[in-house]
Amino acid sequence: MTSTQQQVEPDQRQSQVDAVVVGTGFSGLYMLRRLRDLGLSARAFEAGTDVGGTWYWNRYPGARCDSDSTVYCFSDRFDAEMLAEWTWSERYPSQPEVLRYLQWTADRQDLRRDITFSTRVTSAHYDETTNRWSVTTDGGETVSARYFVPAVGPLTKPNVPDVKGLEKFGGQWFHTARMPEEDLDYTGKRVAVIGNGATAVQIVPVLAHQAEHVYSFTRNPYHCLPGRNHELDPDDWQEIRTHHKEIWAQARDNFGGFPYADFKGMAEDFSDVEIESIFEDAWLKGGLPLAFSTFADTVTSEATNKLFLDFLSGKIASLVRDPDLALELTPTSPFVSKRPPIEHGYYSAFNRDNVSLVNIKRAAIEEVTATGVRTSDGKEYDVDIILFATGFDAFTGALLEMDIRGKNGRRLADKWVDGPTNYLGLTVEGFPNMFMIYCGPYNPAILTNGPTLIEQQGDWITDCLEHLRNNGFESIEPRKQAEDEFVQLHADIANATLIPATASWWTGTNVEGKPNVLLSWCGGFPEYRRVCNEAAQTYAGFDFTSAAHR
Ligand code: NAP
Repeated sequence: MTSTQQQVEPDQRQSQVDAVVVGTGFSGLYMLRRLRDLGLSARAFEAGTDVGGTWYWNRYPGARCDSDSTVYCFSDRFDAEMLAEWTWSERYPSQPEVLRYLQWTADRQDLRRDITFSTRVTSAHYDETTNRWSVTTDGGETVSARYFVPAVGPLTKPNVPDVKGLEKFGGQWFHTARMPEEDLDYTGKRVAVIGNGATAVQIVPVLAHQAEHVYSFTRNPYHCLPGRNHELDPDDWQEIRTHHKEIWAQARDNFGGFPYADFKGMAEDFSDVEIESIFEDAWLKGGLPLAFSTFADTVTSEATNKLFLDFLSGKIASLVRDPDLALELTPTSPFVSKRPPIEHGYYSAFNRDNVSLVNIKRAAIEEVTATGVRTSDGKEYDVDIILFATGFDAFTGALLEMDIRGKNGRRLADKWVDGPTNYLGLTVEGFPNMFMIYCGPYNPAILTNGPTLIEQQGDWITDCLEHLRNNGFESIEPRKQAEDEFVQLHADIANATLIPATASWWTGTNVEGKPNVLLSWCGGFPEYRRVCNEAAQTYAGFDFTSAAHR
């Protein structure tokens, strides 16, 4: 164990605390710090051997953040000194660098003393006679807490397809979120990358330069945008530091919580020439401005969306030499109906002789054999390593892996059997004092820069806990009507867009048997924050109890 991983032995820890936090990625660390600011005691449980959350688990080749590093960290709301001290080396930080940042944060804030590592929370049961949660772990510990704060992330439970014959495979295989800690040596190896979402889009160009051959098993192409990553030098940092406040203010006002100018308006208000120039400008900037800084009706107007699709298909055709291959890589689903991956040489990788696209829409994977992958057209691809970049059982997956029971022993899994319900993406009727930070369905995580949203949700929860304390309340629980109205509001916004009709993890269609609903708010971060703030003005959507009225 390194010095940074030192932790207090479990038997020295409290078994009665104010709050239990599950997970220590960005959201868990933020909550731990906020709870401490309130003078509340907390225990956090972390399945990994260190902090980091998604950045601990996703250590696949090429793993890198798609958000600009200037806002992929905590703002001065968390700690102004830390913000001024940390320097990112690139526009988009790599996985090792984000992990180092979170480790540094945990050390700087002395958060490790509240964290028990290598431990999963297995159950959390609410007792309405005491207004407390009883939380148990796979380490055999039971902790009693007033507040239960899942901070398990929206993309946590890996989705490994049930492929026939996988057990016979003679090589190595991994899900991309369960790679070994030591880097694999891909030299001279033939690698199958199954899936073509944001993860695979990062892996393919990196392995193209390392492996003997990369087979990219592709079903429905994504809308990949150029990253235009670059190193950040001292001059860049001088500029960034001078404008930190403006950068964060801009991010908080942007639809996606990114440090970009907001939408320019509706596409119909611009001429064809102006539209082309706006697209080109965003394309040259690289990253997500094309999605979050161009037209407000991108996901609500089929006509506007088609302009994006036409623009993208032209770009793909210019990047991929073989026209047939370019077509196979061209998406047909509406732009931003799935998460646009940021690419760093993905399209051009297909111009190489050692990268092949295997079109599994045309001929599906039939089975894994001892030596590789066989598709339904009888072709066999001999490989040494298979990487399943097949995504996650998003949002509900990690929450429902814990046996969470609310009032009257009601299981969250039963309440959500036809799809999740909650109020504000934060709280659930029947589950008092449970606050889901960043992992609650219907929060805007799919379309929002993580830290922007995490800070807003963490501050909302903090204010709520203060409200409870100031008023002598022991518990808070959303009313059924407030929950129903919020879910309906989310559905109304979602149904006005082109998103729900597209199959992906956003709509739950990627996991067999999962209810198909759009899992995330898509009305933009500023509107979500407004709805949350309005709810906290009077807390009229909540019921409270105090000790005297248990
Ligand atoms: P994903 O977007 O869900 O993509 C999964 C891929 O696997 C899809 O191409 C899917 O095909 C394919 N697939 C799933 N099941 C399959 C099966 N049984 N057989 C063949 N193919 C199958 O997963 P992801 O790429 O891991 O990305 C998930 C999310 O993580 C992203 O949307 C993003 O939010 C986040 N992420 C972020 C970053 C970053 O910020 N840098 C990087 C990576 C990931 P179909 O589409 O046809 O179903």
